Amino acid sequence: MQYDQIVMRYGDLTMKGRNRNMFEQKMLKQVKHALSGYPALDYWKTYGRMYIKLNGQDHGPVMERLKDIFGIVSFSPVVVCKPELADIEQTALKLMRSLPAIPQTFKMNVRRVWKQFPHGSHEMNHLIGAPVLREFPELSVNVKQPELELRVDIQEEAAYVFCEVIPASGGFPFGSNGKAMLQLSGGIDSPVAGWMGLRKGLEIEAVHFHSYPYTSRQAQDKVIELAKRLAYYSAAPIKLHMVSFTEIQTELAKSKQNHLLITMMRRAMLRITEKLALEHGAKGIVTGESLGQVASQTLSSMNVIGRATVLPLIKPLIMMDKQEIINIATRIKTYETSILPFEDCCTLFIPKTPSTNPSLRVVEGQEAALEDLPAMIERAVQTVETLIISAETLTEAVTAGEEDWF
Ligand code: ATP
Ligand code: MG
Repeated sequence: MQYDQIVMRYGDLTMKGRNRNMFEQKMLKQVKHALSGYPALDYWKTYGRMYIKLNGQDHGPVMERLKDIFGIVSFSPVVVCKPELADIEQTALKLMRSLPAIPQTFKMNVRRVWKQFPHGSHEMNHLIGAPVLREFPELSVNVKQPELELRVDIQEEAAYVFCEVIPASGGFPFGSNGKAMLQLSGGIDSPVAGWMGLRKGLEIEAVHFHSYPYTSRQAQDKVIELAKRLAYYSAAPIKLHMVSFTEIQTELAKSKQNHLLITMMRRAMLRITEKLALEHGAKGIVTGESLGQVASQTLSSMNVIGRATVLPLIKPLIMMDKQEIINIATRIKTYETSILPFEDCCTLFIPKTPSTNPSLRVVEGQEAALEDLPAMIERAVQTVETLIISAETLTEAVTAGEEDWF
């Protein structure tokens, strides 16, 4: 079937009060960005809905892309006709004829939104259902569990006829909840946390700490690859701040309290990230921490680590099991990259028995003894290399519309 338009629906949640207009503008902007490879398309919106005019473009690839855009709850390819009985009937029949196979059961679902239309919704179910049943005698009506729901949406400007409602990713449109920094390692967890942040409408800038030349270029390439994947889900290219952590890590490793190394490293990372956040207008820090996963992610450790910043720490994976995180990583196509074997800075000089219950007083004492630490942190911020990462080469990814998320 050559469809005319795609209608997109977004959640009520995003539509409350005076924010509505802002959300709609952001939605439109991100949809246009994601579909910029399809120049034939036109866009328009009306109260609470948004439409893409296909202008001859095949709806298939456009719909695949829409599945990964946050803020869209569902969408449907629609055939458009005049809001008149005869036209609606003909269009409904045409749509039925175009189906690859006629199902056994169906149900009519007409919504008359435009109240001047002379027939009510219920009456229309019969008026359109009858000719459909006449033309397809093998079809019967099942209102409870139909195989197919033939829908008509009657608005003043047009009637929209369709039979598919495709679930999308939900969440909030890009940037509608502000900007946060994402601490992006090369591991499995932090890209998933970044994706969840984007889904909640956060604009994300990524910060990666490397210990080049102790860590390899490949380790950095891997992070770039992950940022590219995140950029696919974002409505704008992603800034990736590459921070050299070598000097700080080497300095911290000199401390006699070796079991506190990770705690101190994570605190230094937070201090640097906080400074970058202030510089770039971000109001929170997203990490891939998950309660109990490693020594630095016990509640005691997180208590001591988190005190290094005043910014809100956003930990979307905190209550998730590893397998649940892996399932999402697989779905969003970061997993294969994350499991490549290149080491990031955290795996260097790692103590055999990192503390799971560090003392804030001892940690602060250790840090105070390292006089150069504040200057090193400042230097790391000053020498940051910022890359602008866009999704370019990535085109396919299906994350939504399937069950078993977790
Ligand atoms: P991941 O799989 O995301 O690497 P992890 O289970 O290995 O997480 P940790 O190494 O303890 O856990 O790191 C916890 C969080 O700290 C990460 O999810 C990430 O947000 C941040 N982090 C760790 N190492 C780095 C790094 N080299 N650069 C940026 N952020 C990092
Ligand atoms: Mg890690």
